[in-house]
Amino acid sequence: MKRRIAIFGSTGSIGTQTIEVIAQHPEMFSLEILSAHSNADALIEQAQKYKPNIVIITDETKYEKVNHALAADHIKVFAGEKSLVEIAASDSYDILLTAIVGYAGLLPTLAALEQGKTVALANKETLVVAGDIVTAVAAKNNALIIPVDSEHSAIFQCLEGEKHNVVEKVILTASGGPFLGKKPNYLINVKKDHALQHPNWTMGAKISIDSASLMNKGLEMIEAKWLFGLQNEQIEVVVHPQSIIHSMVQFEDGSIKSQMGLPDMKLPIQYALAYPQRIKNDYKRLQFKNYPSLTFEAADVKTFRNLALAKEAMFKGGNAPCVLNAANEIVVDAFIRNKIGFLEMSDIIETCLTKMNFIETPTLNDYIETNRETRLYAAGLIK
Ligand code: NDP
Ligand code: MG
Repeated sequence: MKRRIAIFGSTGSIGTQTIEVIAQHPEMFSLEILSAHSNADALIEQAQKYKPNIVIITDETKYEKVNHALAADHIKVFAGEKSLVEIAASDSYDILLTAIVGYAGLLPTLAALEQGKTVALANKETLVVAGDIVTAVAAKNNALIIPVDSEHSAIFQCLEGEKHNVVEKVILTASGGPFLGKKPNYLINVKKDHALQHPNWTMGAKISIDSASLMNKGLEMIEAKWLFGLQNEQIEVVVHPQSIIHSMVQFEDGSIKSQMGLPDMKLPIQYALAYPQRIKNDYKRLQFKNYPSLTFEAADVKTFRNLALAKEAMFKGGNAPCVLNAANEIVVDAFIRNKIGFLEMSDIIETCLTKMNFIETPTLNDYIETNRETRLYAAGLIK
């Protein structure tokens, strides 16, 4: 039986690479559902080429255009955020790959997990916002969450066959991004074009900025906490500029396992979709002789304050990571639109963390409200 795949966020960086992986293994996967937010042209092109059963465009103003274009192909077209939730809860697929960026991934992911579906999770913000609820829903419904994020895929792979062994800590590697080694007097003037130039990965705009500010690693610490049921103290970050070791697990005997490879997101995507199988591919192989030195250093959290703020939010718990995430989505958007400077992003996030109401044990509704209120508050801080 082929695995029936749904991709939410199919027009983005992860989404398009997921389509490539599926197209390379037609014997194993069938592409059933695609979704985009507002890029109707890209969605139509994908649908005409790959003929899924269902497409969803969340921007309702684009519905007519998409529906008209796909009528001849007999593809069902839905619109709006509600459709993502309804389709996620439907029986029309086996594995949902969540490649939506940001908070918008939360409710569709929960809907899938409530039905016991396997979720291949790229959308890390979902776990940052409401990791306790998301993992509890998955456990209750016997639903598997398989990470797509390369660091978490690495940890997941290192933990295979180690179910009964005690983990001492996980070590998340960080490339350091395009501004590795830079100081505040430099960062104060950087613009989005430079921040978007990641040395090792080509990614969507939001995660590229998060990587430049090290917020991405902060979000990933929180993501790891929930995915692997870790204590905050068990999560360490080390800067490894070559991005060859994707992350590591240290066990209680002191032994460390790592997962390595060239930086290519298709590998963790393929692993998540085919799990527990590994499938043959022809991706470029790592040649150690081309990497005579793999280096490691501590992260500069004084300069890259977002990482310190994320860690603080993780230790504080409750709705603090949700506040962090909402504020971050607003400031990244403002930075991309040249409304604020690079360092101002941390200032605004910090203000939000101090000013928003703290809720120790939030309900889903509390998270939804925290997200809404923080976005409004953060937007108000941007002139
Ligand atoms: P992109 O910005 O490239 O793509 C985002 C996708 O989500 C697009 O299909 C977009 O549609 C859709 N989308 C955007 N906003 C909404 C919304 N409000 N509602 C529904 N759909 C929406 O992002 P990436 O592919 O880079 O990242 C996706 C997720 O994966 C993020 O959470 C990121 O952190 C994570 N990730 C990404 C990695 C990478 O290498 N890119 C690596 C590890 C994790 P449209 O095209 O119409 O705007
Ligand atoms: Mg990552």
